[in-house]
Amino acid sequence: MSTDFDSLIAEARGCTLCASQLPLAPKPIFQLHPAARILIAGQAPGIKAHTSGIPFDDASGQRLRNWLGLSTDRFYDPSLTAILPMEMCYPGRGHTGDLSPRPECAEQWRKALLKQLPNIKLTLVIGRYAQVWHLPGSRKLSLTDTVKLWRNYWPDTLPLPHPSPRNNRWLKQNPWFEQEILPVLRAEISSIARR
Ligand code: SF4
Repeated sequence: MSTDFDSLIAEARGCTLCASQLPLAPKPIFQLHPAARILIAGQAPGIKAHTSGIPFDDASGQRLRNWLGLSTDRFYDPSLTAILPMEMCYPGRGHTGDLSPRPECAEQWRKALLKQLPNIKLTLVIGRYAQVWHLPGSRKLSLTDTVKLWRNYWPDTLPLPHPSPRNNRWLKQNPWFEQEILPVLRAEISSIARR
């Protein structure tokens, strides 16, 4: 692993760029390793992840691991799975849930950190904010329509809804997602994990 990688990671971990806008002290949460083959491009850490320092350390993470068919060990194996949210620090709560990711975080860090992942075979793009950034063509589409068009991005990219329990209603209203997409996704993850 290069020194450049180590210094970039150390710099990102020590970032305080938008400290004055955050509800708690900055604590960037991500998982990166140059050997990673799967990238989880998420939204922002929740309060549980902020507290533990572990990404997706909550009910959303349990559901996401189930969607992927990955054990906890494999999910947190940085040489397999990279996890990089659009905002790396906990954004705080709004009226209807956690606040949206702050744009300055992706502006400051995202391209440089993604460059450290030359071996990614599949990028899972979770939620609207990550989809607009990673799939600019989806900007005018709803999340549902973007996910319905998943074959347009497959097999190197897959748009997903957020696995939060707050999306239980969406999952109930869109049973095609679990029936049609998850078996294909699990097969691909299993194949990548064996390589
Ligand atoms: S949210 Fe991003 S830009 Fe803001 S302090 Fe945390 S790491 Fe830095």
